[in-house]
Amino acid sequence: MVNKEDLRLEIPSYAYISLARRGMEKISLDQCFLRNCDNQNAELLEPFKKEEYEDDKIHTKEIYIKCKKCNGIFILKLDTIKKVAKSTKDKDAEPLSMGLVYALDENKNNLGHIGYF
Ligand SMILES: [Zn+2]
Repeated sequence: MVNKEDLRLEIPSYAYISLARRGMEKISLDQCFLRNCDNQNAELLEPFKKEEYEDDKIHTKEIYIKCKKCNGIFILKLDTIKKVAKSTKDKDAEPLSMGLVYALDENKNNLGHIGYF
C-alpha cells in the first residue's frame, strides 16, 4: 500500500512559468489540470499512485492524482534533468538542477508543459 500523505509530499507546491522578459510567475500545483475542471482545492485532490524511472539523463516521477470534483484522473509528470551543463564562465558554480513538470491525462496524453520546479 502506498502512503497517500507521503505521495503528497512528492509533489512540489509550486511550478514556475517563464514570462519572457517579465520574470517568472509562480503557480500552484494544487489544482486539477483536466480540461473543464476548475478545482483548486487540495482537499479534493487525492494522489494515489507513483511511478518512478530514470535513464542516464532524466529522473522521472509520475504522480497519479484523482480529482474528487470532476472524478477524473490526471498525472503530474516531474522530470528532473540530472546533468545540466556547468557555466563555462564560472568553473566553481554548482551545476544547475532543473525540473520540468507536465500534466498528463489518465491515458498519458500530454495536457501540456506546466512549468519548472
Ligand atoms: Zn478535476
